[in-house]
Amino acid sequence: MSTPRVVVVGGSLGGLRAAEQLRVAGHTGSITVLGAEPHLPYNRPPLSKEVLASGDHLPPAELAERLAFRRRASTADVDFRLGDPVVASDLRAGVVWTGSGAATPYEGLVVATGLRPRRLDVPGPTAGRHVLRTVEDSHALRADLGRRPGQRVVVVGAGFIGCESAATLRTLGHDVTVVEPVGTPMERVIGAVASTAIQRHLEAAGIRFVLGTGITGYLGGERVEGVVLGSGRVLPADVVVEAVGSLCNTEWLAENGLDLADGVLTDNRMRVVGAERVVAVGDVARFPNPVFDDVPRRVEHWSIPTDTARVAAATLVADLAGRPVTDEFRPVPSFWSDQLGLRLQSLGSPALADEVVVAEGDPERLLDGLLVTYHREGRPVGTLAVNLGPARQRELREQFSHPVPAA
Ligand SMILES: Cc1cc2nc3c(=O)[nH]c(=O)nc-3n(C[C@H](O)[C@H](O)[C@H](O)COP(=O)(O)OP(=O)(O)OC[C@H]3O[C@@H](n4cnc5c(N)ncnc54)[C@H](O)[C@@H]3O)c2cc1C
Repeated sequence: MSTPRVVVVGGSLGGLRAAEQLRVAGHTGSITVLGAEPHLPYNRPPLSKEVLASGDHLPPAELAERLAFRRRASTADVDFRLGDPVVASDLRAGVVWTGSGAATPYEGLVVATGLRPRRLDVPGPTAGRHVLRTVEDSHALRADLGRRPGQRVVVVGAGFIGCESAATLRTLGHDVTVVEPVGTPMERVIGAVASTAIQRHLEAAGIRFVLGTGITGYLGGERVEGVVLGSGRVLPADVVVEAVGSLCNTEWLAENGLDLADGVLTDNRMRVVGAERVVAVGDVARFPNPVFDDVPRRVEHWSIPTDTARVAAATLVADLAGRPVTDEFRPVPSFWSDQLGLRLQSLGSPALADEVVVAEGDPERLLDGLLVTYHREGRPVGTLAVNLGPARQRELREQFSHPVPAA
């Protein structure tokens, strides 16, 4: 097999980085990217930040072009087949099928199908309810909000996308309420100390939080007019943003005997467990990271598609050539978030901590800078910096470049 064909399923950040890294790893055969979206890979984080805040109201195709990743020369010959999702696969035979019925055979396969937003399964009208993952979602939300401030917006879910969307919508002058049934904003990821401090900051800017209750239904005829809480209370709403987590796009891998309990299970070199010459990258991949422990987890941060693509591509190229690869993959996850003058930057996995320490600054004065460190069984597992400069961030990253022994 001199020039094996590689197929990448999923045409976003993970799929693009996989194609680039296959070339870096020396793959000279064909690369075909099969994508469900009709657009070339584009950057999602601005959708809840600059794009939502901007006065421009571009149609989805133009917005996707504006957010598109630069196409490197090494991937000029990659064949992007877009707007036709893969619906089935036979990993033993080495073939995938798209919705249009086209069969694409491969010798090597990259799974890069990411996530889609979960929708709330509650009764009521659907018009006026939004999620935020794609340029189409962003366009629909902007169109519904119109250009007038003062719309009553209910954001359901106080995770990162919910809090960021709420913050941006508040800067546009909307009347924003966030509903979260479990804990305080982003608490599951960053813990109570930082979470409550950020909540106070957002409240000071006029965002209301209704915590400890979920949504049981929507009121309205043609479109949403209100949100019914578990307590029976009704919040009037012109627009609702549902930010209640995600589902993994793995249905097309069913019937192959894989572990798809939460994304797709891989080994530490991103090989899909139970398949040959198949690797996974990005949000959909559940992999063990010895920086923390051996428990496989998915990581939904922008840095991970790039990190996983580098290792997955090197693994696939080696496996196709029958060469061994032995070095361990030890990525340090990182994410950022922008919320009403706060720049949050995290390293590691704060969610794994059993102890949280305010190392620098005062949670009551977030704008002046805060550093929270996260520890498990006495060992550092993460940091959260709020409004700290790039030099301090570099120092913190340096600390994490040294292996942290498993707890
Ligand atoms: C609004 C928003 C804001 C964000 N902000 C931040 C941030 O500030 N910081 C941060 O660290 N991260 C942020 N993220 C997360 C970051 O964007 C993701 O981690 C990243 O997009 C993951 O890339 P991916 O390629 O793995 O998956 P995805 O981006 O989900 O891409 C998967 C692609 O596969 C396609 N696909 C799915 N099923 C199929 C199929 N069957 N056949 C073919 N194609 C398929 C999808 O249509 C999609 O194009 C944000 C995400 C969103 C949505």
